[in-house]
Amino acid sequence: MDEAKSKEQLIDEVRSLRQRLAEVEALQNQQDQIEKIFNSQTTILDAVDEAVIVTQLDGQIVYWNLCAQELYGWSAAEVLGRNIVDVTPSTMSRAQAIEVMERLRSGEKWSGEFEVQRRDGLAFPALVTNAPIRDAQNNLIGIIGFSEDLTKHKELQAKLREETETVETINRIGQLLSAELDLQRLVQTVTDAATDLTGAEFGAFFYNVIDERGESYTLYTLSGVSSDRFANFPMPRNTDIFGPTFRGEAVIRLENVQLDPRYGQNAPYTGMPPGHLPVVSYLAVPVSLRSGEILGGLFFGHSQPGVFTARAERIAVGLAAQTAIAMDNARLYQQAQQAIRTRDEFLSLAAHELKTPITSILGYVQVLQRRVQQESLASERNERALRTIAQQAKRLNQLIISLFDLSRLQIGQLAIERAAVDLRELVQRIVDEMQPTIERHSLIFRADHFEHAPIVLGDPLRLEQVVQNLLHNAVKYSPDGGVIDVRVTRDGADGQHPRHVCIEIADGGIGIPAESLPYVFRRFFRAKNVEQTQISGVGVGLYVAKEIVTLHGGTINVESTEGVGSTFHVCLPLKDTSERGSTITA
Ligand code: ADP
Repeated sequence: MDEAKSKEQLIDEVRSLRQRLAEVEALQNQQDQIEKIFNSQTTILDAVDEAVIVTQLDGQIVYWNLCAQELYGWSAAEVLGRNIVDVTPSTMSRAQAIEVMERLRSGEKWSGEFEVQRRDGLAFPALVTNAPIRDAQNNLIGIIGFSEDLTKHKELQAKLREETETVETINRIGQLLSAELDLQRLVQTVTDAATDLTGAEFGAFFYNVIDERGESYTLYTLSGVSSDRFANFPMPRNTDIFGPTFRGEAVIRLENVQLDPRYGQNAPYTGMPPGHLPVVSYLAVPVSLRSGEILGGLFFGHSQPGVFTARAERIAVGLAAQTAIAMDNARLYQQAQQAIRTRDEFLSLAAHELKTPITSILGYVQVLQRRVQQESLASERNERALRTIAQQAKRLNQLIISLFDLSRLQIGQLAIERAAVDLRELVQRIVDEMQPTIERHSLIFRADHFEHAPIVLGDPLRLEQVVQNLLHNAVKYSPDGGVIDVRVTRDGADGQHPRHVCIEIADGGIGIPAESLPYVFRRFFRAKNVEQTQISGVGVGLYVAKEIVTLHGGTINVESTEGVGSTFHVCLPLKDTSERGSTITA
């Protein structure tokens, strides 16, 4: 029984041994096959500029080209027959290895990036592509792998990324700077950003400023160090080391400033002044405009040598360029602000100075008018002359008032009284007073029917000024005379302004060209077509009118056709909704 059993066992063992033998033979066949294939191609594969490695399915290396020898440091003789995992240990994970086999079995290629170790123990980033090798019966019999050293590629990528980041940072700071119009704050922002980005321990920006008297002096901002560390030192002078920066000649980047021949040549110091910041690494960049004007210089220091790289220099140069533009903007802005202040001061002063004599002229004209009548000097000619003087003086007075208002508007001092004003009554009175003073125009007043008086809360004198201004313009800009329609409407004639009372003043005058229409409420603006006429004006009236109407919470606008006429609309909120008018009777 035992014997029979052991016989059976023996038969089994022999069978399994045969099977193993067959397997080994098959494997040997595969290996021979692969070796045959690849070793016959040696010259071709050795010429490939990539490492080509062929293994059996179990990882045993059967082919290793010339480039693989160079890349991994092993010769083909040393690695053939060894397992790839032992020869080139890598960071390929188990999951990746399983994925590779699955892909290859299903006939696909596989590519992946990981670190691979060389013979000398150093690892490098590799891009590995594996592809299946099949026999004539399409059985998977081996793996061919191509590996490429990505070190240079990665370095280039990192450099590119760094450059992109640098440009982005400079642009971001540039945007910040262009929005900053305060010079001191701007310069501080640059100094801080540049000190940080260049890796400096301390940074300074010395810049020239011209004061109101036109005198130039140097200011500075510091970063990374408190200003009292600097307070006892004189401003940097045009010495050998600082000169090129202040003259805008060149960027200076030194590994160790103390070894530079230009350093410490100037009395009273022959080296670093005692207590001075410990500058070893040194970087200085001029800040200059395209025009060649030097605005100042950015200086950076570090107590260790060789800190400032070429990249730090590029950053500093980039920032210096952005800074120059931003400083120029800020200076222009400050100059413009100063010019506006000077103009407003002048306007205010001039208006004030002009008011006194004109009031006196108007007073004396009245005295003369009375005297002429009393002292039997009355004649048509005398009275006309005096009337003209009075009219012109009034016009002058009006102009002065406009200028005065303008200057007060600039400094936000145009005050508005608040009182209940019956707008219909106000407009009617102005029309009635004005009609006798004009000869060639007829003012026609009409008003909607209001159940309650159309009351607005406002400044009667200022509102009168607006209406008078519009009426004067209507007269002035219809030099051939004609009818001027004045209407007081409820909600605007087209009902577009609910709970408002509106004034319409329409003339049949020269009108306003379409291209000028959007700008007539701007300061000092005069339409194109008035240039060809003799009609005088300074372009202030409508601007002041708009400001006054806006201060009352109302709106003013105009419709006009050149050569046909203009209609101005002023709409003001009614004081209370219960006091709204109801029906319209034109
Ligand atoms: P001014 O009349 O002193 O020039 P305004 O501010 O009152 O200044 O008016 C600005 C401009 O608007 C005028 O120069 C003129 O071109 C145009 N304008 C104003 N009112 C009229 C109008 N009724 N008809 C035609 N153009 C007008």
